[in-house]
Amino acid sequence: MNYTVETPDGPERGLRVTCESHGRSEEFDPGYRSGAFYCPDCGYEIEVTLRDTHEWRDLGESC
Ligand SMILES: [Zn+2]
Repeated sequence: MNYTVETPDGPERGLRVTCESHGRSEEFDPGYRSGAFYCPDCGYEIEVTLRDTHEWRDLGESC
């Protein structure tokens, strides 16, 4: 099983989890701190935790 977690660029920084083996993907909104991705073909559910994007912005402003 090979899972990929992406954070697409853009104004809405969500999270995309993809099961490479079966080509299934699910996107989570930026508001979610954690999400569960379930691939029915794998029969597995993985839990994804988002890092707080607000901390990133604060760091950028302080530079
Ligand atoms: Zn799968």
